[in-house]
Amino acid sequence: MLQGQCLCQAVTFSIHEPPVRVSHCHCRICQRQHGAAFATYLSVPYASLQLTEIAALRWYRSSPDVLRGFCQHCGSSLFWHHQHEPDNLIAVAVAALDNPPVFGEIRHLCVDERAPWCPCVEPNSV
Ligand SMILES: [Zn+2]
Ligand SMILES: [Zn+2]
Repeated sequence: MLQGQCLCQAVTFSIHEPPVRVSHCHCRICQRQHGAAFATYLSVPYASLQLTEIAALRWYRSSPDVLRGFCQHCGSSLFWHHQHEPDNLIAVAVAALDNPPVFGEIRHLCVDERAPWCPCVEPNSV
C-alpha cells in the first residue's frame, strides 16, 4: 500500500493496488499546474484510491474531460482524472507519496511540448 498527502496534510490518501503505469507528462498544462518542467504521475484503478482526508480537496477542469485535484489550502497538485478514461484509472502525483517506490519504466508523454529548460535528455517519445 502506498500513502500520500498534500504539503499541509489537509488531503491524505492511500493506494491499494500496484500502479498500472508511471509517466512523466511534459504537456504545458502540467507544467503550469505543477510549476515544473514536467509532472510525474502513477496511474491506478480508480477504485484502488482511497481518499482519507478530503475536506480541502478541490477539482479544476483543465480540459472538457479532465479534472485535476489539488489542495485548496497549500496548492499541492495531487490527481489527474479523465472522466471517460476507458480503463477507469486515476493518475496520482508521485511527488505527493510519502515513500515513493523505485519504478521500472517511466514513459514520457507529450514530449512535443517539452520545456526548453527541461533536464531530460532526449526522452523516449510516446
Ligand atoms: Zn494541503
Ligand atoms: Zn500533462
